[in-house]
Amino acid sequence: MKEYKIETKCIQEGYKPQNGEPRILPIYQSTTYKYDSSEHLGDLFDLKAPGHMYTRISNPTVDFVEQKIAALEGGVGAMCTSSGQAASLTCILNIANAGDNFVCLSTIYGGTINLFAVTLKRVGIEVRFVNQSMSDEEIEKYFDENTKLVFGETIANPALTILDIERFANLAHKHNVPLVVDNTFATPINCRPFEHGADIVMHSTTKYMDGHASVVGGVVIDSGNFDWEAAGKFPGLTEPDDSYHGVVYTRDFGKAAFITKARVQLMRDLGVTPQPMTAFILNLGLETLALRMERHCQNALAVAKFLENNENVSWINYPDLESSDQYALTQKYLPGGSCGVISFGVKGGREAAVKFMNALKMAAIVVHVADARTSVLHPASTTHRQLTDEQLVEAGITPDLIRLSVGIENVEDIIDDIKQAFAAI
Ligand SMILES: *Cc1c(COP(=O)(O)O)cnc(C)c1O
Repeated sequence: MKEYKIETKCIQEGYKPQNGEPRILPIYQSTTYKYDSSEHLGDLFDLKAPGHMYTRISNPTVDFVEQKIAALEGGVGAMCTSSGQAASLTCILNIANAGDNFVCLSTIYGGTINLFAVTLKRVGIEVRFVNQSMSDEEIEKYFDENTKLVFGETIANPALTILDIERFANLAHKHNVPLVVDNTFATPINCRPFEHGADIVMHSTTKYMDGHASVVGGVVIDSGNFDWEAAGKFPGLTEPDDSYHGVVYTRDFGKAAFITKARVQLMRDLGVTPQPMTAFILNLGLETLALRMERHCQNALAVAKFLENNENVSWINYPDLESSDQYALTQKYLPGGSCGVISFGVKGGREAAVKFMNALKMAAIVVHVADARTSVLHPASTTHRQLTDEQLVEAGITPDLIRLSVGIENVEDIIDDIKQAFAAI
């Protein structure tokens, strides 16, 4: 079959109705499935036949959305989860056990930092933070025989640093571990990390993929490229699973070993399951993802250029600006545009920043980014308030940082709103 371009995949991949079937993805609002014989159901439990047993583990509506996302990222399989947090947790737990550690870029989402540095620590998995300004030699000191993966965000939320995916894929592979990339802000429209050597990709689908601030969700996608057997340090994938009467994921599922284990073992046990209804809503968002990303990026670049030349702005960070220190990496990994999120500082520090935000009429103060509506947030006092000052700096956040998520309204209205808010302070 012809491989479609990404805009076409957004629409045509996933659910493909046959003769006389509903045109639109049906919502299979059912927890369970009927079989004619217990032998058949037994085969499903033994993973000998494909099919759905119970919606905690899989569901046809969710399955079609997973197929679409796997096609968009270019992976062998995907698994939707109840949230982005559940997706990153699944990625780690699928390959790391108590006593293991992993290397992680320090510029990542605040919620992920808490999960990794606090909650995973409690269960004996250690995160080791590094940053991109370190040399390869320095970073390699963080690896040892118990290191199981490297984790980073394509476009860090909210620092907006761009991950040098090839560099970190090489570092990870040199130490026989996979690179896991959170591709939430870029989306597969703007960057497909597998094409640059990443092995596993995850998203908070809550952001651009849904795109309308309607449903919380996450997804994990497996490239199928990492050789777990050759790496020799992932017995959970290469040796019999006692909780599944001896299944060996690499032997029995080949390239889909990682994503199969994530589903039949972790989704079974953790139950971080997406609902059929939310998967349906996510699918609607995915259909317009390419269109929306194009407009988000166009609008954000225009707003960034306006802010760059504005006397009320002390600094601005948007990776697509030529003046950005991230510009070279952006050109390499996100040549079509990065995302709709801009960060900047208002002259007058924290106080002026708060006044500016309160004066906005259209852009709303919300704990969310990456949806159709323009919104603003002050991370130091909200999303990242659990972090220490040191962690804030490490995550690339200053007290005056305003995160502006540029929506898909007419850009003149967005800029007018910012202008009148500046006038008010
Ligand atoms: C929001 C976000 C998450 C967490 O996702 P939830 O859907 O809110 O659980 C993870 N990574 C990034 C980059 C995010 O922006």
